[in-house]
Amino acid sequence: MNFNVENLIRENIKGLSHYSSARNEFTGSAEIYLDANENSFGSPISKNYHRYPDPLQIEIKKRLAVINGVRTDEIFVGNGSDEAIDLLYRIFCDPKVDNVLICPPTYGMYQVSAAINDIAVKEANLTEDFDLNPAAIVDAADLNTKLLFICSPNNPTGNSLDQNKIIEIAGAFSGIIVIDEAYIDFSRQRSFVSEIKKLENLVVLKTFSKAWGLAGLRVGMAFANSKIIGLFNKVKPPYNVSEIAQNAVIEALENREMVNRTILKIISEREKLIGALSEFEFVTKIYPTDANFVLVKTDNADLIYEHLVGKKIIVRNRNRVEKCEGCLRITVGTPEENQELVNSLREYSQD
Ligand SMILES: *Cc1c(COP(=O)(O)O)cnc(C)c1O
Repeated sequence: MNFNVENLIRENIKGLSHYSSARNEFTGSAEIYLDANENSFGSPISKNYHRYPDPLQIEIKKRLAVINGVRTDEIFVGNGSDEAIDLLYRIFCDPKVDNVLICPPTYGMYQVSAAINDIAVKEANLTEDFDLNPAAIVDAADLNTKLLFICSPNNPTGNSLDQNKIIEIAGAFSGIIVIDEAYIDFSRQRSFVSEIKKLENLVVLKTFSKAWGLAGLRVGMAFANSKIIGLFNKVKPPYNVSEIAQNAVIEALENREMVNRTILKIISEREKLIGALSEFEFVTKIYPTDANFVLVKTDNADLIYEHLVGKKIIVRNRNRVEKCEGCLRITVGTPEENQELVNSLREYSQD
């Protein structure tokens, strides 16, 4: 396959001269900064946030580079990985002309971002056991298919997709292949990040929102070859990650052991929860999961959902998602939360 990223970029992005911020033009250290119209007097709160943050988040990227075995210019940090998804559309997809390919049932943002950017969505459904269907993907793709989204472990189904199939597809697809690894830290499978060295058309997404427990910060990452990352940097808003978020992420990255311990706890709670759920008669199927949630097929998702809402417990009702009829997606909580959930479900089953 002869892949050349130049052929995929939108014309207006190729010719774009990006906004050069004050902190882009001077990057050394000085004593007096009068270049960015900030307020040198400070702010009304005790912590100082009166300076613009690092536009390229270099302290974060240095640490991520070590952890992930890549270079800093192979990393994009954004306002959630949702920002990376949107940027991919804006870099590669011409509105009303191009299309993207998704593998439903999968994460809803791919479709929402497509709609916002006026890009058509093609679908190559997952198989009955929620794995990739390479033939359907190859069939559905055309010359205007710029992005292929593969979510592994997949949301909302929870399973990891077959990595050999992903490699097979990556070799046959001439657009950008996006592997969303939001849940990879809970999975037994290895990350695709190292593959960016070999596969020029690969973008791997990760996030601080799940295993890292920092959903409120809004920080996500994309890993790709430096050419694609350069495009992200050209198109992103200049100061896309706030100073508060950058500092908090650096702090979190210093405490990976705690994250690893939490991941192990969540996985062990997940297995306990699956055991408890499998006892209920109204549960007709529990799908294999490699994530911090479990997709559960029931005989009446709407009723169970409403019962739980009445108990002030909220799960995700996926009953109206195609191929997920009757399903609830349940996030693994603390032992106490999971116990409350199981107690409430027991009451439901006895009603
Ligand atoms: C939660 C999730 C994300 C994370 O999005 P953020 O914007 O980083 O919070 C990305 N992809 C999938 C599939 C998810 O479920």
